[in-house]
Amino acid sequence: MGVTRRTFLIGATGLSVAVLAACTDEPPQPSPEPTPAPPAGPPRPAGVARSDWLGDSFSRGSTSYLPVGESTRLREELASPWRDRLFFAGEATSTDAPSTVHGALASGERAAAEILAVAAPGERVVIVGAGIAGAAAARLLVDDGPEGLEVIVLEARGRTGGRIHTIDGDAWPGPVELGAQWVRSIADHDLLERLVRVGVEVAIAETARGFDESGEPIALTRAEPASATLETVLLPVLQAARQAAEAVEPDVALATALALLRPWDGTPGPEGAPSEAQSIALALSGLVEPRLGAAMGELSTREGLDELPLGADNLVTGGWARLVDSLLDDVDVQLSSPVTGIAIGDDDVSVRLGVGDSFSADRVVLTAPLGVLQERGIDLELPAVKDSAIARLGVGAVETIWLRYDEPFWDEEAALWVLADPEAAVPLWVNLQAVTGEPVLVGVVAGSRAIGFGALDEGDAVTAALAGLARLAVERAPSGD
Ligand SMILES: Cc1cc2nc3c(=O)[nH]c(=O)nc-3n(C[C@H](O)[C@H](O)[C@H](O)COP(=O)(O)OP(=O)(O)OC[C@H]3O[C@@H](n4cnc5c(N)ncnc54)[C@H](O)[C@@H]3O)c2cc1C
Repeated sequence: MGVTRRTFLIGATGLSVAVLAACTDEPPQPSPEPTPAPPAGPPRPAGVARSDWLGDSFSRGSTSYLPVGESTRLREELASPWRDRLFFAGEATSTDAPSTVHGALASGERAAAEILAVAAPGERVVIVGAGIAGAAAARLLVDDGPEGLEVIVLEARGRTGGRIHTIDGDAWPGPVELGAQWVRSIADHDLLERLVRVGVEVAIAETARGFDESGEPIALTRAEPASATLETVLLPVLQAARQAAEAVEPDVALATALALLRPWDGTPGPEGAPSEAQSIALALSGLVEPRLGAAMGELSTREGLDELPLGADNLVTGGWARLVDSLLDDVDVQLSSPVTGIAIGDDDVSVRLGVGDSFSADRVVLTAPLGVLQERGIDLELPAVKDSAIARLGVGAVETIWLRYDEPFWDEEAALWVLADPEAAVPLWVNLQAVTGEPVLVGVVAGSRAIGFGALDEGDAVTAALAGLARLAVERAPSGD
């Protein structure tokens, strides 16, 4: 039997060694020299919050991505309406900005516009899912629909927002975001303005620092060791991989393209600069995995990598959920109403609910995540081209773990910490102390590392997360001088 991810994560802390030693029947051997006490690890946090998007029946993963050999044509096929009765929205249907909040929002408005082009007065529209796509579709239909248009949103969970999941509570100094955190690609949409209009604060978090396997700070790039902006310094690694892949037909996985690269830059970097392997590890842990969730052995280097959402500056600190709430103001939303089946007739659509009820509607907007559609969470007969698109698109894995402290135990001032350590369970951290002044760290684990992370019990997840921080944060804790 192989070592499971779970045992590795726990073993990495040294805990399992200590437990085995304590259980042995051997009489204790006198030690020739006193063993130095191991360095104390980071303190346990005062509060923890974390996600399990992969285990959640109403998401079954983080966001969609294009596996090797696939193209955005799959997204178009998924997005196209079927018989003017069933309309599709959600991040996976966006060709411009999949994997993002703004892409999902625009997809909801696109689906609503498709309905407005065909709907007659007095019709009933059912929207499946109250995430940002469903909320945006509902808003447009309610505001601009023909007279008497009835709009009902059916949401499986007991809350709205979907992969926007804000937790507000006295235990935390500010809103906790278990899903989306950043506003990406701000030049391409008006999401920042929308957030400001509904009173949601957005903070700038741009400084980033890399750390090597032993926790020593390293520059993020070999060429510009002084620079500390995540994207400007890490994107060239990916561009080089893209160029290497172009020589190979028809497409290769990013892992293969990166292997073709080595040595991607033969020039030794200045002192403190990352090695070739570290540069690649930083680019994957800091950019690709947390934004696409894909395993590097599966992500397309061509069209898949082209979809990487850019922009790492604008962190939502005032609660993403308020945007969803504002869109759903005065909309009929029925919570805890999981849809189990949809049947398209000639003149209407029948929507079956898990609780036994069913609705008849003229048109339906389906916004359930790709992971739910792949697992056949909703019984639905679709044309082969759509079934094929659903099966061939990839579903990624990204999980977050929030750690709240009474006092910071770190003195690092950068807002983003990226660990160039392939063994670190959680290689990317957002240091909210640098952004909001609150002693809160947000770990992001993604790609193949995220498989099983959400299923760990809380103690094991915290232990695994802290193991990576032990080297960088504790050994560099304030010494008082
Ligand atoms: C950990 C993580 C971090 C992210 N970070 C960012 C970020 O920083 N910036 C960014 O722009 N994007 C980010 N994203 C992506 C972003 O959150 C999503 O693209 C976006 O929220 C998706 O919106 P949606 O409406 O398409 O889907 P969802 O929000 O998933 O909405 C779908 C809704 O359908 C409901 N549903 C599912 N099944 C049923 C059913 N059978 N019946 C009824 N309802 C059902 C779900 O409960 C859900 O409410 C992140 C995602 C994750 C998971």
